[in-house]
Amino acid sequence: MSKYDVVVIGSGPAGYVAAIRAAQLGLNVACLERSTNKLGKTGFGGTCLNVGCIPSKALLDSTHKFVEAQDDFAIHGIAATGLSIDIPQMIARKDQIVGQLTGGIGQLFKANGVTAIKGSGKVLAGKKVEVTDDDGKVETIEADNIIIAAGSIPIDIPPAPIDQDVIVDSTGALEFLETPKRLGVIGAGVIGLELGSVWGRLGAEVVVLEALEDFLPNVDKQIAKEAKKIFTKKQGLDIRLGARVTGSEVKDGKVTVTYADNDGEKQEVFDKLIVAVGRRPQSEGLLAGDCGVTMDERGFVYVNDYCETDAPGIYAVGDIVRGPMLAHKGSEEGVMVAERIVGQKAAMNYDTIPNVIYTHPEIAAVGQTEEQLKADGIDYKVGVFPFAASGRAMAANDTAGMVKMIAHAETDRILGCHIIGPSAADLVQQVVIAMEFGSSAEDIGLTVFGHPTLSETVKEAALAVEGHAIHIA
Ligand code: FAD
Repeated sequence: MSKYDVVVIGSGPAGYVAAIRAAQLGLNVACLERSTNKLGKTGFGGTCLNVGCIPSKALLDSTHKFVEAQDDFAIHGIAATGLSIDIPQMIARKDQIVGQLTGGIGQLFKANGVTAIKGSGKVLAGKKVEVTDDDGKVETIEADNIIIAAGSIPIDIPPAPIDQDVIVDSTGALEFLETPKRLGVIGAGVIGLELGSVWGRLGAEVVVLEALEDFLPNVDKQIAKEAKKIFTKKQGLDIRLGARVTGSEVKDGKVTVTYADNDGEKQEVFDKLIVAVGRRPQSEGLLAGDCGVTMDERGFVYVNDYCETDAPGIYAVGDIVRGPMLAHKGSEEGVMVAERIVGQKAAMNYDTIPNVIYTHPEIAAVGQTEEQLKADGIDYKVGVFPFAASGRAMAANDTAGMVKMIAHAETDRILGCHIIGPSAADLVQQVVIAMEFGSSAEDIGLTVFGHPTLSETVKEAALAVEGHAIHIA
C-alpha cells in the first residue's frame, strides 16, 4: 500500500495550492483529481480553472471589448463600423486559456514533486483513502494527513431541471455557440449577473428572475442600489425581484418558465435558461461512515477555524467547508493547513476576504457593510468618492460608480470598503492590505498615491471619512 505524508482529495484552488505548499515544506504529497475536462485532460484546477473563475472572466473580457468597441470607441474618435463577433472563436480562446492554466497545474505538480493521481477518493477509517480510477479499479493509499478539498457543484432546482441544452447551469452557459435571442437567468447572484452580462453584451434580451425581494442582499445597500440602476437603466438587464420560479417546460428548443410574484403567476418564453441559484458541497460518497469526519445536513464538512475536522490529522478546505465560496478563500485555507501540518502557527483572517462581482462596472468589497455595522450597534463614519470626480476615470471614459470607505467612529480603524466602478477588484485589494495591517482611514489619507490613477479614488474616499476629500465640492 502506498503511503504519503499528505493526500489531498481534489485539485481545485484549495486542493492544488495545499498540495504545492505542503510539497514546498518537504512533505511527500499526492493529489487526487477525478474529473476530466472538456479538453479530455484531467481537470486539474477544479471548478475555478475549468468552469468557473477563469473561463467566465475570459468571456467577460471578450464581451466587454466588444461592447467598448461598439459603444465607447466613437467618443475617442475611433470609427469601428461593421463590428461582428465570432462566438465559436471567443469560446475557443476561452478553452485555450483553460487548457494552458490546467496544464500549468500539472507542470507545477511535477516541479514540486507532487504525485498527481487520476481517480476518485473516499476517506476511510484509519487515515486511509480509497481511490477508484476511471476504469473502476480500486486501490487504497495511506496518509499521515488528509486534506479534503472536494469543492462544490451547482444546485439544481426541480422546477427547472438542467438538460445542458436549453436549460443549463453555469457550466453550460460558458458553452453557447450563438447568442440566445431571449435569455432567462434564475438567480441574481454573482454567477447569474456575470453570465447574464456576457450574453446580454452580445445582444441577448436578458431577464433575471430572483426569488428574494432585495437585490444583492449581502452587498452594501448603497452600492447595490447603484448597481441595480446601472444594470437595469444603462445595460438593459431586466431584473425581476420577488419572482419565484415554479415550473418550466421545454418544447421545440425553447423553454416556457412559470414564476410567481406579488401580482400572481406569470410566464416567459426563453431560447436558453441559466439556472444560477447557488452551489452545494460535493460530498456524496466522499466519507466512509466510520472515518470520523462529520458533515452538516447540507453536506458541508465540519471544521474549526484551522480547518481541522473532527478526525485528527484530517482537514478540509475550500468550498466544501463553511465560509464564502471563493477561490482565494480556499487557497489561503490550503496554505494554512499545509503550514500547520509541519508545526507552523499559520492562521487565516476571515475578516479581510475580498469579494468581487465581475460585471462592468465591477463590484468589490471587503469588511462590513453599513447595514451589518448598524445591526451590531457599532458606531461608524463613512466617506464616499464618486468615479465621476476622478481624472483617470474621465480619461478612460469609465466614470460610473463610487468608492465607499467605512471607519470606526472613534478609532478611525477601517471596518469596510465597498466599491462599484472600474477596476474595483484591484482597487479593493489596497484596502484589504490596509485592513490586514490594522490601518485607519487617516493612514490611507496620509499615503501618497500616484496621479492620475483610479487608486486615488480610494485615498479620496478615505479623506472623505473626515470630510477632507479634495476633489469633491
Ligand atoms: P473546486 O474548485 O470545486 O475543486 C474541487 C475539485 O475536487 C474538483 O476538480 C473535483 O472534480 C474534485 N473532486 C471532488 N470530489 C473528489 C473526489 N472524491 N476525488 C477526487 N477528486 C474530487 N471564485 C472566485 O474567487 N472568483 C471568481 O471570479 C469566481 N468565479 C466563478 C464563476 C463561476 C461560473 C463559478 C461556477 C464559480 C466561480 N467562483 C469564483 C467560485 C470558485 O470557482 C470556487 O470557490 C472554487 O473553485 C472552490 O475551490 P475548491 O478547491 O474548494 O473546489
